[in-house]
Amino acid sequence: MSALDTWLRCPNCAGLLGRRGRTLVCPAGHSYDVARQGYVNLLGRAAPANADTPAMLDARARFQSAGHYAPIARAVAGETTGSSRILEAGAGTAYYLAAALDGAPSAEGLATDVSTAAARRAARAHPRAASVVADTWAGLPVVDGAADALLCVFAPRNAAEFGRALAPGGRLVVVVPTGAHLAVLRDRYGLLDVAGSKVDDVLAAFPGWPSRVEPVSWEMELTAGEVHDLIAMGPNAFHGPPADTAAATVGASVAVVTLTRPDARSRP
Ligand SMILES: [Zn+2]
Repeated sequence: MSALDTWLRCPNCAGLLGRRGRTLVCPAGHSYDVARQGYVNLLGRAAPANADTPAMLDARARFQSAGHYAPIARAVAGETTGSSRILEAGAGTAYYLAAALDGAPSAEGLATDVSTAAARRAARAHPRAASVVADTWAGLPVVDGAADALLCVFAPRNAAEFGRALAPGGRLVVVVPTGAHLAVLRDRYGLLDVAGSKVDDVLAAFPGWPSRVEPVSWEMELTAGEVHDLIAMGPNAFHGPPADTAAATVGASVAVVTLTRPDARSRP
């Protein structure tokens, strides 16, 4: 996979990583094995306790493959047509990266996630996607200007690193929930609250970047099992998802924030 050969830098010394068989090696001799499942672990330590678990990823994959979040995938893919190198940070299953790659037939993709289980799954999300284990907070293990599109869907943001990883003129597509997102379920099951004014937080983190905000809202007719998956696929899983769920009509509401990275002088 080309992204593994030319995009990555050593998490130890920031030297360019090159492929040598089933290993990536930097000029200083740090080496990282390509796992049998196709991903590379560049984290260099154990995954944190809040990394997605295999059960969360299974629930998310079921929910996504049923098409309930397709409006987000369509919106993201609409922002990345014409891209050639697409990075998804905090990719989870890499569902959105796969949609973006489908919409950009000559593009290559790279998924990063702090969860090894996510990286394993993302490695087979799309024939043109590669996958690494990395922590967005610690820095993306890619060379400067590696990507011309960067996706961050319901995932942690690192403004300085996103600015560094994107080429000048590259697009950053951030998807955040609005206060109305899954409100029915929050009321019914006492789920975690959506933090207020997330769009403002995104815009404030990238001063000087031209931006556009597209609200996307839709209704989902969910079975009891799908309601359970929706709760169990996110951070609420760590607080014990409800034992009994019921079928429901659930409103989804997100904002798709597209920002364009200015030239190097105005990096955040
Ligand atoms: Zn190194």
